[in-house]
Amino acid sequence: MNTLASLNLVKSLENSAPEAPNSQPQNSQPPNSQPIYALISVHGDPTAEIGKEGAGGQNVYVRELGLALAKRGCQVDMFTRREHLNQEEIVELAPGCRTIRLNAGPAEFISRNNLFEYLPEFVEAWLNFQNRTGHSYALIHTNYWLSGWVGLELKSRLELPQVHTYHSIGAVKYRNVENPPQIAAIRDCVEKATLEQADYVISTSPQEVEDLRQLISQHGRIKVIPCGIDTEHFGSVSQEVARQQLGIAPDSQIILYVGRFDPRKGVETLVKACATLPDSFQLYLVGGSREDGADFQEQQRIQTLVNELGLKAVTVFTGRISQALLPTYYTTGDICVVPSYYEPFGLVAIEAMAAGTPVIASNVGGLQHTVVHGETGLLVPPCDSKALAIAIHSLLKNPTLKQSYGNAAQNWVQSRFSTQGVAAQVQELYQSLTLDTFIQEIIQTKKLTPDLEKQIQNLLKSKALKSNEIKALEKLIDSFSNGIVQWASS
Ligand code: UDP
Repeated sequence: MNTLASLNLVKSLENSAPEAPNSQPQNSQPPNSQPIYALISVHGDPTAEIGKEGAGGQNVYVRELGLALAKRGCQVDMFTRREHLNQEEIVELAPGCRTIRLNAGPAEFISRNNLFEYLPEFVEAWLNFQNRTGHSYALIHTNYWLSGWVGLELKSRLELPQVHTYHSIGAVKYRNVENPPQIAAIRDCVEKATLEQADYVISTSPQEVEDLRQLISQHGRIKVIPCGIDTEHFGSVSQEVARQQLGIAPDSQIILYVGRFDPRKGVETLVKACATLPDSFQLYLVGGSREDGADFQEQQRIQTLVNELGLKAVTVFTGRISQALLPTYYTTGDICVVPSYYEPFGLVAIEAMAAGTPVIASNVGGLQHTVVHGETGLLVPPCDSKALAIAIHSLLKNPTLKQSYGNAAQNWVQSRFSTQGVAAQVQELYQSLTLDTFIQEIIQTKKLTPDLEKQIQNLLKSKALKSNEIKALEKLIDSFSNGIVQWASS
């Protein structure tokens, strides 16, 4: 796409800034019917195979959130871009939760750096889907800057409330990169517009809030809600059973890495650290990529390094492991290492802890808030193989400490990062942004006493209602529809 066209895309977004951040949707569901929420994840198909190029934490976040919201009784449609001709348009993952694949650009894998030019097509496809099916979405929750752009377009056309999750911030990702890709400047512009114009941004960690405020904008509303995982799923296997399944001896010491092969994941630092360890161990590198993808080159680079450092005999490249089988791998590990140089949140750390495996992670981004140093694992400086080796050795040589970190890790994740708890917070935010629409409709269609109307309008002025206020208003809606409330006669 030429630069002029790219700039026009951004311009159209700048000109479309809504007057008020908390505008009312025009076409919501009738009062008392279940609102439908649209999760938009242009490049992260929630039903994709996870762990290969282009499919990681974002796909899991969207899918788990959609499923958990549906479990709470919401209706959720998760929109993504069709990547293969043979992919179905609509996949029902669970009652109330569907993935919908829209045609935007060629039906093939396109790396996220090249997707921007297809976004207008995605917007049109989304609008067509809405018109064709007669669905009226109450709110859109966009993921990553590409979907953020789509969301701003939809918001400006339909005045839909928009919630946005960044997943990664360009200004942080490219902070120390000498030659960032051409798209980085446009991304910065879209990320700023999204923060300032979306109704709410969900940050998955306090570190992200700091980054957004320092590097992107002082304007716009942010709420911290972490990523959630199915803690029961990851904690479902005992280490004994897991090792039997994988054919690993009970007394082996297993160092585990799970994730994509991407230079920023710091696998190189981990391999270098392992090469200096005095302990006997096996290194399991879990994750895989397509042969034609950029991640594959990184995997090959790591393989070469493993050979050069004499670690071939103790290193296992498992390839991509399904989410169903991952708990077996996590539980098998004595330690899970997350050696990233930059990590907006880092699902792998909480998945490992949910399995009762202590985590040694780089002291960066979201990891600083998910791993409790000296309680659920250890935090070490990024890019520092020496410090990492010392940390790994300190746990491998002390099984009691390892066990106590593992137990604490499991309790910590269950109390903070379970999908149900996280989804409850997200639902509350959605309700606070959409409830006023339903109430306004009621106010317009029913004749209230002036006092009651004034009180309700006052409540609605608070931009994000507290949970007790939401509950009170919900009760009020029920009362209206059940005819319990007595209307003032004209
Ligand atoms: N993952 C997987 N199979 C693999 C490797 C990774 O399902 O073989 C999943 C892992 O469980 C996690 C996600 O990929 O949910 C990676 O998320 P994270 O936030 O750690 O990193 P990202 O890929 O988003 O940078």
